[in-house]
Amino acid sequence: MEKHPENNEEYKGLKVNRGIDRPDTVSPYLKAKRVRKKGLSIGDYVEGIVSGNISVLSQAVTLVESVNPDHHAIAQEVIEKCLPYSGNSVRIGISGVPGAGKSTSIDSFGMHVLKQGGKLAVLAIDPSSERSKGSILGDKTRMEQLSNHPNSFIRPSPSAGSLGGVARKTRESIILCEAAGFDKIFVETVGVGQSEIAVHSMVDFFLLIQLAGTGDELQGIKRGIMEMADGIVINKADGDNIDKAKLAATQFKNALHLFPAPESGWTPQVLTYSGFYNLGIKEIWDMIDEYMVFVKQNGYFEHHRNQQSKYWMYETINGALRSNFYNNTIIKDMLADYEKSVLSGNVTSFVAAKALLDAYFGKMGK
Ligand code: GDP
Repeated sequence: MEKHPENNEEYKGLKVNRGIDRPDTVSPYLKAKRVRKKGLSIGDYVEGIVSGNISVLSQAVTLVESVNPDHHAIAQEVIEKCLPYSGNSVRIGISGVPGAGKSTSIDSFGMHVLKQGGKLAVLAIDPSSERSKGSILGDKTRMEQLSNHPNSFIRPSPSAGSLGGVARKTRESIILCEAAGFDKIFVETVGVGQSEIAVHSMVDFFLLIQLAGTGDELQGIKRGIMEMADGIVINKADGDNIDKAKLAATQFKNALHLFPAPESGWTPQVLTYSGFYNLGIKEIWDMIDEYMVFVKQNGYFEHHRNQQSKYWMYETINGALRSNFYNNTIIKDMLADYEKSVLSGNVTSFVAAKALLDAYFGKMGK
């Protein structure tokens, strides 16, 4: 089994054991029952959220995540009414491969920022959550100190739908959390590519957690992801790993020089720290504070948020069009047949696509 600091003789807390495979979702009927429960009115939701009622906020987020179209409609109204109260937060994206120490770090980062006051919401985007029937990211049990803090709100990744759908729900949840007075938002994701782009499209600062000591630090990381980072932090800089972490930091710094300067005008920084032993956390936060002052002064902060709003307008339109197309009963039937024909080489992909699109638009009376 992997080396964990929790398994050291001197560590007095719980030891790390091997995990178990995740069981199936509990009875689907339980879910159906919960959905049917009589809900609050739109006014109740908005009032509860704006007054900082966590239980109402939590229910509203559930509504946002629901696949039920009625819930979706209510959620949209609640979000719209919450919009005037939103926007006043620092939104930070935190990414790293599994085992990089995201949950340990978020626990430490969170406790650090909460010491300065305010409220922190931890949300997540996990593209694998649909397949694995539930998400680990953002799970409360992984953030022991934070989950017991009265000013924190931790929510796992929405699990249903495509990455785009999951991301949209998380973005909507950010608005609700902000309206409820959360002035720090963390959005966590796993370092696998696409999900970083989604997170980047909804945060002000993108923090990339890396590890040292693999010998090929820069090989495993996609160039595009490094280019998105406003800060790269090398975790587990503790014990005999400190020198390796410093070396990795130098390599990352050198690699960053090869990229074009980011649009924000900010020079991405590279730091080392230890989430588990709470070393170097303050320096990371000083960097983020410095960034916020910098981009607010040069106007990039507002420009970036406006660009993100535009991006999400198009994403929402694209998502709605796509789902309308794929949920159309005629298209659904035709799709299966055309897919077979394309696979057997009887029809080209373009002919098939055109026939389907013609049928779709024809059906709409055009
Ligand atoms: P995640 O999958 O990215 O959320 O990673 P976790 O936070 O679950 O951490 C994975 C393992 O790395 C756990 O055993 C942690 O205790 C360990 N770990 C996390 N941060 C540190 C650190 O700063 N130093 C050391 N030595 N181990 C750490």
